[in-house]
Amino acid sequence: MCKYELMTIKERYTGIIEWFSENMPDAATELNYNNPFELLVAVILSAQCTDKRVNIVTPSLFEQFPNATAMAAATVEEIFELIKSVTFPNNKAKHLHKMANMLVADYVGDVPKDIDEMQKLPGVGRKTANVMAVVVFDIPAMPVDTHVLRVSDRIGLVKNAKTPLETEKQLVKHFPRELLAIAHHWIILHGRYVCKARKPMCEDCGISGYCSFYNKNK
Ligand code: SF4
Repeated sequence: MCKYELMTIKERYTGIIEWFSENMPDAATELNYNNPFELLVAVILSAQCTDKRVNIVTPSLFEQFPNATAMAAATVEEIFELIKSVTFPNNKAKHLHKMANMLVADYVGDVPKDIDEMQKLPGVGRKTANVMAVVVFDIPAMPVDTHVLRVSDRIGLVKNAKTPLETEKQLVKHFPRELLAIAHHWIILHGRYVCKARKPMCEDCGISGYCSFYNKNK
């Protein structure tokens, strides 16, 4: 029996944590932001859009509307004009406008630090709320997007997870709390650049020794 087959799930986590800690010690979001409000806006804009594209529009957007109060006072059309090069600008402009208005009306202009409260905001689903929780509020969470679903399943970090919520719960359970934020970036960046959807670059992958997909298919 090869070494991989004898490995427990704990050893698999330990192995990839060691590798990522050594090789991606500074992994962070590729979105540019200076405060929770800006990150929330950037994450809403990044749905089905590239971070690079979002980073092109946010400097002038944040200059014009630096906080929820300023964005709430704008018109949807004014917001649209500044974000029209991202995907789905119509819907995103409406969401940003409503989201800013709700922040002002219900949360004195601040982003609430609670995952359930955040999900009441227009344009904010569980994944976005989890990004905010783990990246800026130090609340244990794991945002699950298509990269996290695919990569954690391929490596074998989750077992029989049938929904994104099950994947989220298993990852939150296994990663040490203090590593959840960086682990989220490790997995996303690994999915974006190495463990790609169509053709994973297994031969160049530093964690292949811990990967279920690789060891079953080699
Ligand atoms: S070995 Fe292949 S499938 Fe496994 S994590 Fe690396 S790139 Fe993905």
